[in-house]
Amino acid sequence: MVTVRVPAKVNVQLGVGGVRPDGYHDLANVFFAVALGDEVTATPGEGVTLTCTGPDADAVPLDDSNLAARAARLLAAHHGLPDPGVHLHIAKAIPVAGGMAGGSADGAAALLACDTLWGLGTPLDTLLDLAAELGSDVPFALLGGVALGRGRGEILEALPVSGTFHWVFAVADGGLSTPAVYRECDRLREESGLGSSAADVPEPDADPALLAALAGGDPVALAAALGNDLQAAAVSLRPSLADTLHAGTEAGALAALVSGSGPTCAFLAKDADAAAHIAAALRASGTCRTAHATHGPVPGAQVVQTSA
Ligand code: ATP
Repeated sequence: MVTVRVPAKVNVQLGVGGVRPDGYHDLANVFFAVALGDEVTATPGEGVTLTCTGPDADAVPLDDSNLAARAARLLAAHHGLPDPGVHLHIAKAIPVAGGMAGGSADGAAALLACDTLWGLGTPLDTLLDLAAELGSDVPFALLGGVALGRGRGEILEALPVSGTFHWVFAVADGGLSTPAVYRECDRLREESGLGSSAADVPEPDADPALLAALAGGDPVALAAALGNDLQAAAVSLRPSLADTLHAGTEAGALAALVSGSGPTCAFLAKDADAAAHIAAALRASGTCRTAHATHGPVPGAQVVQTSA
């Protein structure tokens, strides 16, 4: 049995370029791994089977579309294993379809858990390549920490960071579809007259003030530099998110932003006490299903338990 713990992410910067001819958007994506995470346990089995527990377990597909199952099959195929043979149990804490890359996290965790269970010893570079095949957010869940993602987000560069930052995540009822949020972003850009193609929108780049705030461990400077180009689209599709963002700011958050494609909202706090206070205020506000205080950065997917 092998258990892997894997973090969720928040995008402290999500710069979205115009639509490329292949339909993707170029991104300048600064990923930040937080302690809120899932655990994936791999045990020997027949074929690839899945179970899931946690508050959102009903929303997690248990068929071959699950990224953890796809990861197990991909790793087996890469090594030419005829029968993958694994049962994967996902203990799910990351909100589903919440803009925190929960499915991607489980894909990364399953790669590492199966690699360990099957004794394959796949080099990290190869695991990162397989992760990128599974999805653009999967490599970061293996790497963790703070990293700049370019291209579709899958070309990663680890970034220097000091200290610990304190976060609160307000979980909404129901998810938002990531492709729908990108389409809404394009629609809003067309509506504003700016256009939405790669020729219309300047190529996004990492904000030097944000990189300096991370390297210096300065939450006030980081709060001033946070940015998410998908936020307007997520709020347009789910107008009640404006109330959630407002409630966290009223409770003393240094900054509030939609996490990735939403609908989870992220709040930066000055310290752990402030984070606990903001989480309690958000839970009492009636503007979200629940709220969690957490911190980061934390490492990427890690084996936390093995037994025969
Ligand atoms: P991202 O921020 O990467 O766009 P997200 O956090 O918004 O992702 P996920 O939780 O990854 O969204 O779920 C998106 C969809 O992926 C779900 O609605 C579900 O159908 C599918 N999915 C596949 N595998 C998983 C998994 N292991 N956990 C959760 N959802 C999964």
